[in-house]
Amino acid sequence: MAEAGRRAGDLFLDLLQTLLRLLPWPTETGVRAVGFPDASSPVLLTGNYALTVRRVLRALEGVDAWLVVAPSAGINVWCAASGGHLGTHQVVTALKTSGVAERVHHRNVILPQLAATGVIARDVKRRCGWRARFGPVRAEDIPRYLAQDAKKSDDMRHVGFDARERSEMALAWGGPMALAAGLVLAWVHAPWALPVAGYALLAAFAAFFALDRLPAPRRTGFAALVVGVGLGATALAGGGIAALSAAGVSGGVIAALLTFDYAGSTPIEGGSHFEERRFDVTLDLERCKGVYSCWEVCPEACFEKPAPGSEDRRISIAHAERCVHCGACIVQCSLDALAFEDAAGRRIEPDAIRRFKLNLLGQRVA
Ligand code: SF4
Ligand code: SF4
Repeated sequence: MAEAGRRAGDLFLDLLQTLLRLLPWPTETGVRAVGFPDASSPVLLTGNYALTVRRVLRALEGVDAWLVVAPSAGINVWCAASGGHLGTHQVVTALKTSGVAERVHHRNVILPQLAATGVIARDVKRRCGWRARFGPVRAEDIPRYLAQDAKKSDDMRHVGFDARERSEMALAWGGPMALAAGLVLAWVHAPWALPVAGYALLAAFAAFFALDRLPAPRRTGFAALVVGVGLGATALAGGGIAALSAAGVSGGVIAALLTFDYAGSTPIEGGSHFEERRFDVTLDLERCKGVYSCWEVCPEACFEKPAPGSEDRRISIAHAERCVHCGACIVQCSLDALAFEDAAGRRIEPDAIRRFKLNLLGQRVA
């Protein structure tokens, strides 16, 4: 009974925090025992975003491990790592102060792969002696990853952005928008409140399921579609000039909010913009020695290792078109073989990528 109550409470919090995902939801930091861990059990680390911690704990049911919850300002791992809230410093602090070092006799910690944009694994080792490895993207894959001797299969590295994740993002954006639009219109002109709120939610789903699949220019095309469909539906419903004007304005605002690249680090819109220029990842083959950290952390599987048995161990950027400019590969390459470069040959060196973090507008700032 108590277990059923706890699960119902978790479900409610999951829904609430999914709907209000744009807000930070911090939870307690420190070390937690999962199952019945001992001194040789694996140590996993995540950020202190409440929704993530609950999901990781659920995914680890049946596993004996230590979970270190590091401070990430109550923000999810990818956004926190890209924005400078979950970096080497937070990981080192958590490993040093949580007490986990006294509970295990090894010094291996598994980080979420999406922390690779902010946490420099070799600096963690240098600063506190822990060897940091990047585990799978999704918490559900952790048990399989541990069972495979901490080896990642291709599907564990790739951010697929499946229907569930797209729906969550649509709810996270569309839910608050629909609520705000509904409340404002209920006050201004109540009959418009429900249709506009519903349309905002519908447009959010359309954005997260279709925006990245539209031909360029995607944002303009999407905005035209949202405004056009809103006007068409209002005209069909017999709306007059005032209703058509409201539909046009609401459609424009909804489209602008949905197509603005806030976080700058999602599979829909990449980040890493410096000012207005666009940079792509370049590989210096002279420096590459085939360490494959880039391959390990790329969420879009852009890199390909050489064929087995090949003498040349160097990596290749086989799918540059998939790159979302997260910078994880550049941050992790210990030989600085990767950098951002634009079409005019201007380079952003790895050190700058490591120092500059994404702001809310998806631009890199110090
Ligand atoms: S680019 Fe860097 S991380 Fe990637 S294989 Fe080469 S040396 Fe390793
Ligand atoms: S190749 Fe692109 S998507 Fe992959 S890790 Fe590097 S910057 Fe990120």
